[in-house]
Amino acid sequence: MKTIERDVIIVGAGPGGSSCSAYMKRQGFDPLLLDKDVFPREKPCGDCQSGVTTKLLAELGWLEGLREIGFENYGITMTSPDYTKLVVEAPNRGTRYDTPRRIYDHYCVKRAVAEGVEFRENVWVYDVIWEDGKVCGVKAKVDGEYVQIRFRMVIGADGSHSIIAKKIKMFPDNDNDVAVVGRCYYADVDMEPFNEIHFDKDVLPGYVWLFPEKDKLCNVGLGFNRDLYKEGKTLEEYLDSWIETSPFGEKLRGKRRIGEFRGWRIPSGSQAMANVVPGCILIGDAGSMVMPLTGEGIGPAMVTGKLASEVTREAFDENDFSLNVLSRYPERRDKIYGPKYQSIKAMENAFSSAEAVDGFVHKIAENPEVKAGFQKQWYYESYEGKE
Ligand SMILES: Cc1cc2nc3c(=O)[nH]c(=O)nc-3n(C[C@H](O)[C@H](O)[C@H](O)COP(=O)(O)OP(=O)(O)OC[C@H]3O[C@@H](n4cnc5c(N)ncnc54)[C@H](O)[C@@H]3O)c2cc1C
Repeated sequence: MKTIERDVIIVGAGPGGSSCSAYMKRQGFDPLLLDKDVFPREKPCGDCQSGVTTKLLAELGWLEGLREIGFENYGITMTSPDYTKLVVEAPNRGTRYDTPRRIYDHYCVKRAVAEGVEFRENVWVYDVIWEDGKVCGVKAKVDGEYVQIRFRMVIGADGSHSIIAKKIKMFPDNDNDVAVVGRCYYADVDMEPFNEIHFDKDVLPGYVWLFPEKDKLCNVGLGFNRDLYKEGKTLEEYLDSWIETSPFGEKLRGKRRIGEFRGWRIPSGSQAMANVVPGCILIGDAGSMVMPLTGEGIGPAMVTGKLASEVTREAFDENDFSLNVLSRYPERRDKIYGPKYQSIKAMENAFSSAEAVDGFVHKIAENPEVKAGFQKQWYYESYEGKE
């Protein structure tokens, strides 16, 4: 079997993998970035690049390009099951965009390649190779040929069905930490520049979203935790019924749905796993980094990609690829995400009944102080380091 050798490889070129590859470059590595697909490719998503994402894009020097391809939103409009409407504006303009992932992910890969990252597509990784208690290679099919790729460090950035996570036995699959979500697009929808989040009595805790994109395109989707998924009705049927019955679904009635409705798995149980074994770090969805309730995962994928590049640098400098060094990754990740995860999970648990969500939305709508507190929690990235 043919063998390819590199110091660092990154499996998966979603936002986690591509940004990680660029951060690896900045750390002095020449990473090999791999993906099983050929870009541009689809990725089911709500397509919202939040303030966490734009912060890192600005750091990478990639934000200006997003402003050209994305549609800016000014924050969220939230509605409760009793149809009370609440607008929560983002504290800063120019920090939140909605861009189809087909375009966004391709843009990030192109930026990484422009910085000198070696990118190979159509490379399907199907196994990992262990030697002396360390992951030191993967088996892959490259353009129809089976090869071994050997390395000193691998970053598993291969998404929520991660083969790397499964092979290193770090694939958490607890129903309470996995959401089932799906989306489609509608054409010619008139919307204000706000992401709409509709809490409906039939999809709690979870929500229906309508996110406006360029040229009156609208990303429409919904999702909720797998343990509460009421079997017998598909996600698409829930969505169709919401569009027909909710007053907020009215703007979609009679409009053209584009492409198929696509469902996916989103894992948010990162706290349950270290996501490192000797020679390997999992980032993004492969490391179950999606935030509960909000479903935000692009920013966390990029944040963990950056963290992984820093810990990889330390591993090379100390010539130690064991958990002595790599366990710094979950420590730093939990420092950033542990408290956020806990508070959003608590909010998610409180959102299990229509009455609770009605009460919550009314309280925010009627009390400016509570609203300010909620705004800080929702747009936490805008306040970080400022208090
Ligand atoms: C319906 C839906 C709506 C969402 N809405 C939002 C939102 O609005 N905003 C937000 O921030 N997050 C949202 N998320 C979450 C977000 O999509 C993910 O968190 C994000 O894509 C994670 O990025 P990633 O780079 O970790 O993984 P991915 O984007 O999944 O990328 C993984 C890459 O790995 C490649 N790959 C997989 N397996 C292999 C293999 N065996 N060999 C080689 N390559 C492989 C894939 O082709 C893919 O390109 C949503 C998710 C869903 C499903």
